[in-house]
Amino acid sequence: MPKAETGTLVAWALALPLLACAPPSRAAHDDLTARPAVPSPGTAPHATVLISLDGFRADYLTRPGAVTLRALAARGVRAERLVPAFPSKTFPNHYTIVTGLHPEHHGIVANTMRDSTIGTTFTIGDTIIARDPRWWGGEPIWNTAERQGVRTAAFYWPGSDYAVNGRYPTYYRPYDGRVPNSARVQQVLDWLALPSAQAPRFMTLYFSTTDDAGHSHGPDSPQVDSAIAHVDSMVGRLVRGLAARNLTDRVNLVLVSDHGMTPIGADRVIHLDDHIDLNDVDVVDWMPVTALTPRTGQLDAVYRALRTVPHLQVWKRDSVPERYHYRASPRITPLVLLADEGWTISSRARIARNGPPTGGTHGYDNVLPSMGALFVAAGPDILQGRVLPPVSNVHVYPLLARLLRIAPAPNDGHADSLRITRW
Ligand code: AMP
Ligand code: ZN
Ligand code: ZN
Repeated sequence: MPKAETGTLVAWALALPLLACAPPSRAAHDDLTARPAVPSPGTAPHATVLISLDGFRADYLTRPGAVTLRALAARGVRAERLVPAFPSKTFPNHYTIVTGLHPEHHGIVANTMRDSTIGTTFTIGDTIIARDPRWWGGEPIWNTAERQGVRTAAFYWPGSDYAVNGRYPTYYRPYDGRVPNSARVQQVLDWLALPSAQAPRFMTLYFSTTDDAGHSHGPDSPQVDSAIAHVDSMVGRLVRGLAARNLTDRVNLVLVSDHGMTPIGADRVIHLDDHIDLNDVDVVDWMPVTALTPRTGQLDAVYRALRTVPHLQVWKRDSVPERYHYRASPRITPLVLLADEGWTISSRARIARNGPPTGGTHGYDNVLPSMGALFVAAGPDILQGRVLPPVSNVHVYPLLARLLRIAPAPNDGHADSLRITRW
């Protein structure tokens, strides 16, 4: 986000009523807030590890391999699902989870986006362009913590390996998807074992395995079952490692995912070139939210031509329904197209080049159950045996700030919506 926008963001975040997607029921809420305040004085604050299992759909928790995750949920708290931000894609959502801001406010509005001020196109694989701090608005939790004297570490999280706000976590790694998940877990255990003067109190850990399998084979595949069992075993390795070091009662685990997954197929394709001349538009991003910038003078004609296309919704930027919180950034294109669940927006040339869609994807309407993400938390500061209704992922940031006992930066979340601490 350009510097000039930061003031607007802060003013906005302070002015707007805080948006709780689904606060706990009144009875549950009263019960949570009735707890006695704060841990006993003199005890060192506990550490917190935020773990992302990319593309782990909420209901994967019921699949056979999710043994450790179910055990953690039983001794802690889980939500029926974590509602992702729109669009339900990886970078917008990981960055929402660590800033508490909707993508329109933190600026990572898509995995692929263009900014006329910066003059380049952001893609998640182009680390030269993505490391420009102007893309990254808001304040990620590791910076909120470091600014308040709390050491942090990241074994991957979008933004953690770039100088967002001019800062990095104390310990971090440039993203390399080839690093085995077991090495990531081992490093987190090693960080926790550092002498207290060096040990981080907040850490992130990230696995892409379930997302990879969901894209290639679809969410209902045996390959996704294997991926679930694999990431579960990695969480198990962490849990056992904590126990072996007598750290179970000193470390909170917050497990999330960024979005779910739904099947796609060759029988559900919207060919844009059947409806408009693709020379009349600049397609910034394709799927399943298509970001279109019509050439000068073409906006109304393109809008009208797309309005009647089955299985497709099209909005001018200022008319994107409010519940998506997807208007305020200049990186959102003048036309936003959204496919119905399971449909693919493409063109005849793209299908000829890339083949028909297979497997699974995400990015659809964020309130669809199939886009629902994981939320499980357990540890010394977390209540036991609670199940929360669906809750928006903007509320994770205030929860993390509470667990770390630091003051959150202005954000779109609400501390009461995920108040799951014992104190
Ligand atoms: P998506 O298709 O939206 O689910 O994007 C998932 C992909 O994002 C993963 O398979 C990774 O390749 C990539 N990814 C995840 N985290 C990072 C990161 N910190 N830096 C760069 N790429 C990442
Ligand atoms: Zn993802
Ligand atoms: Zn994905």
